Amino acid sequence: MFPIASNKLKEITGGFWYQESEPEIQITTVFTDTRKIYSDPSAIYIALEGPNYNGHAFVKEAYNKGIRLFIVSEIRDEFPQGAHYLRVKDTLFALHQWAVYTRNNFHSKVIGVTGSNGKTMFKEWFAAITEEELPLFRNPKSFNSQVGVPLSILPLDNSYALGVFEAGISKPGEMEKLERLIKPHIGVFTHLGSAHDEGFQNREEKFREKIQLFKNSSSLILPTHLSLEYQDIIKEEIPECEIITVGSEMESTFRITTQIQANQAQVVFHAPEEYIFKIPFSDKGSVLNCTLAIVCYLRLKLPVNKLQERLSTLRSIPMRQQYSRTLGNAIIINDAYSLDVESLQIALEFLDQQAGEREKCLIISDFAEPLHKVEQYARLVELVKNRGIQNFIGIGPDLFQSQPVKSGKYYPSTKEFLHQLQSQNFNNQAVLVKGGRKFQLEKVVQALQTQRHQTTLEINLSAIVRNYNALRLKLSPNTKIMAMVKAAGYGGGIVEVGNMLKNNGVDYIGVAFTQEGIALRKAGIQLPILVLNPWLDEAEDLIEFELIPSIYRMQSLFQLDEVAKSLKKDVTVHLKLETGMNRLGMQASDVVECAEEFKRLNHVRVKGIYSHLAAADEEDFNDFTREQVEIFNRTAKQLESILGYRLTKHIANTAGALRFPEAHFDMVRFGIGLYGYNPTRTELKLELAMQFKSSLSQIKILKKGESAGYSRKYVADKETRIGILPVGYADGLPRSSGNQNFSVLFPEKGYAPIIGNVCMDMCMIDLGDLDVSEGDVAVIFGHQYPISILANANHTIAYEILCRISDRVKRVYYED
Ligand SMILES: *Cc1c(COP(=O)(O)O)cnc(C)c1O
Repeated sequence: MFPIASNKLKEITGGFWYQESEPEIQITTVFTDTRKIYSDPSAIYIALEGPNYNGHAFVKEAYNKGIRLFIVSEIRDEFPQGAHYLRVKDTLFALHQWAVYTRNNFHSKVIGVTGSNGKTMFKEWFAAITEEELPLFRNPKSFNSQVGVPLSILPLDNSYALGVFEAGISKPGEMEKLERLIKPHIGVFTHLGSAHDEGFQNREEKFREKIQLFKNSSSLILPTHLSLEYQDIIKEEIPECEIITVGSEMESTFRITTQIQANQAQVVFHAPEEYIFKIPFSDKGSVLNCTLAIVCYLRLKLPVNKLQERLSTLRSIPMRQQYSRTLGNAIIINDAYSLDVESLQIALEFLDQQAGEREKCLIISDFAEPLHKVEQYARLVELVKNRGIQNFIGIGPDLFQSQPVKSGKYYPSTKEFLHQLQSQNFNNQAVLVKGGRKFQLEKVVQALQTQRHQTTLEINLSAIVRNYNALRLKLSPNTKIMAMVKAAGYGGGIVEVGNMLKNNGVDYIGVAFTQEGIALRKAGIQLPILVLNPWLDEAEDLIEFELIPSIYRMQSLFQLDEVAKSLKKDVTVHLKLETGMNRLGMQASDVVECAEEFKRLNHVRVKGIYSHLAAADEEDFNDFTREQVEIFNRTAKQLESILGYRLTKHIANTAGALRFPEAHFDMVRFGIGLYGYNPTRTELKLELAMQFKSSLSQIKILKKGESAGYSRKYVADKETRIGILPVGYADGLPRSSGNQNFSVLFPEKGYAPIIGNVCMDMCMIDLGDLDVSEGDVAVIFGHQYPISILANANHTIAYEILCRISDRVKRVYYED
């Protein structure tokens, strides 16, 4: 509940103000993640603790960003003076107590949703058909965890007439806690599937755990087949709850039949009342979740007359925040299907993270909800200011009339805006497009994305983070990680990948060239950056941008020292030692011999030493690898003893780190593993984060004897249906993939071999009798289609394929 008085918070959490310095402040905002903080004197930071991080370590950073109120469970020496610390036993528990208090003061109905799949679909669609009838509050996107649920409850107050919350769990015992927070009157159970199976003994146990959410509910809506299958558990666990079932079975409370047509479905309600609704989806999951939303709406006895109209405007819900980079270096974040203040706040945080140096632009529609207009606009203005939005564009009659942001541009409708779009320039801007369904802002997104070339490289930034975490668990906690983002992040985009990993705690970044390091600095990344191949004539840049050059020639040290002296700055370097790769590097004997001279350097600080393994992925060369490690270890120790201090030592790449724990030293350098390719035969499962796709431009029929492509390499031996894909060797599809050497994959349909020679910009494929049409998307590699197939077909390795995907291929980034 906002605002809340600081002394009330003390009472609710049972904490005490450290050093008796009791503040008198009305708190209006909560932060738990320092990356998301903007300066706000009425905000409080809660130092939460997780398995891999401790929020107390970020108190100082929060203070530097302007926070003066904290909830902590310990007081550390480093905590700044002049702030107020509410000390509690357990900070997560305090957050829960605050949410319970807020929930208990909410006097209208609450709906609780759980299930393995479809929770968000149900919630968003239910909100979409209901929010014009009732002011409705829901937890944004997937804020459904032990931290997400309580945080999302805090803004709830009695101006809303209905609350809808989804709850997700991954292990036993969690639902009970979420039940205390949400306390739903009406429950909805969407689906029971295999997600998080590993956390439970069996499905029954998982079902039993999940329905704890409805322990105090008066009714539960669920598919009939689930209620039949788990009858006994329902009777045991929630005997008082009225069970409302939905399905085609005779015993269903809401007995329905569905007829699936091309892109829509007709849901016929037979009992208890007769209705027919058309919904704009045809896949099983969407039809079920949409039907559950209708049933829930009917149970609330809301007027049915406008329901059909609203149902027909529903859109599928992108389960991920998608963004893409267009020509002119703009990035477009597409969040064009829902709008409320809470989800806006989250989307703006995402914009902030991704923008880097770009100007920030917000394109937003009117809010859907008719009430709260004044407060909503006040919050909007505040968010626009705090998040540093330079370019504000408002679309819709309300915004057009009230023009809340002074410097903004306003248009009465989407159409009007599209009309004038050509005259606007979004070069080098980060654009968030956010609006209510009605406004169809996805048309704006489409117009902004220059769709010249239908070949894309999709990059799943969340998968990179998951790979990073999986790799990290193979190391001892003290071992640092350098993320290698050379060669444009193995094709994935240097700044995007660098930013994402920075936000997830990587220690160092490694790049091939000085310019790549400068690009990272300009994007605001302040981590130590090692440059593998610096040139001496770049010394000034290296020093100005505080990059760490790798030194592979003794002389360079002294030349660098001179430049640093003239700039009156210090420069840190890592030495590159030759141990057997025979690429760049200094001989061990030279390093030891010259070490005394290092002491004469005035501005150059030798802080690290490293080497590179030549064959860490090959079992036949294990002895050779161990020899390299041994030479490295010996030389580094000698050098340390001469210099009299410790150096940061590193030698292992992905394969080396996975196969040779003794090669970890102080830091490992992960490259290919982060992008989801395990170069070794070790068990570790990684997820390919890049997906290379192209869509069919044209389909044509060749008669027997007709040929396709240059040099007439392919000749049809019968009437053949072929397709043309706008991807060629200039995009990074190797020319030797042609002549049936490699097939592309149409997901769920099948493979189509490339026929004839691959051209520079295009290739032809044999479609056989695949059920595909123009515009359909073919996968060249991706998470369902291993990159090794393309690499092997072309006698090369995944590394080469990835980094040769050319710049003209549009990159589409997303998080799932
Ligand atoms: C590329 C590179 C790495 C990363 O290697 P992966 O096999 O991709 O993990 C590590 N160190 C150096 C010096 C490199 O050039």
